Amino acid sequence: MSSEDTLIHSDDPRHPANLICTLCKQFFYNNWCTGTGGGISIKDPETSHYYLAPSGVQKEQMRPEDLFVMDAQTLDYLRAPKLYKPSACTPLFVACYQKKDAGAIIHTHSQNAVVCSLIFGDEFRIANIEQIKAIPSGKVDPVTMKPIALSFFDTLRIPIIENMAHEDELIDDLHKTFIDYPNTCAVIVRRHGIFVWGPAIDKAKIFNEAIDYLMELAIKMHKLGIPPDCGIGEEKKHLAGP
Ligand SMILES: [Zn+2]
Repeated sequence: MSSEDTLIHSDDPRHPANLICTLCKQFFYNNWCTGTGGGISIKDPETSHYYLAPSGVQKEQMRPEDLFVMDAQTLDYLRAPKLYKPSACTPLFVACYQKKDAGAIIHTHSQNAVVCSLIFGDEFRIANIEQIKAIPSGKVDPVTMKPIALSFFDTLRIPIIENMAHEDELIDDLHKTFIDYPNTCAVIVRRHGIFVWGPAIDKAKIFNEAIDYLMELAIKMHKLGIPPDCGIGEEKKHLAGP
């Protein structure tokens, strides 16, 4: 086995190369990454190498051999499949690693994200919903030093940036959200999809699933005439219909 292949071949289903393939398939069947859209990157916790799904490969057919592997220090490719181009999201993923200390980033073309980007202006907001508690507040408990999640009584806010002709052109607006929303773990791209990151892939997956659930719920509330960020007990004032 060549040294390049040892980077991607492992019997461990939790190895980044295997996990990316498993998750790409799962996200394809969730309708989040069809038509080769979307992408995933995982930082190997042991080597700190960045594992990246390539551009143009059908997500449900992704194999470890299709993946790019990047050195986190030099940003040189340690492994680059000849058949494929790196994902256009790569600079955005690297920005999340470097500026947000991410351990993994998920990018989907979720229809819930796209519709929410048409309903909301510069910020997606939803309040007082149990599932909000899955999302980190960005604050840390001063005693345990563990991250504190949002509470049921909080409002989740996710910035929405405008789409560009090419994915890598989103980089300036992504950097701006890092400054304007230092606690966010996600950015919605209007008429495009969403980027979600976390300290490890398990967390990023939970955040992505919870946010997608909340975006779907917000769309349903909006259809009923209920503002997704309305206060507890105020929903009846807004209910559409008789
Ligand atoms: Zn995309």
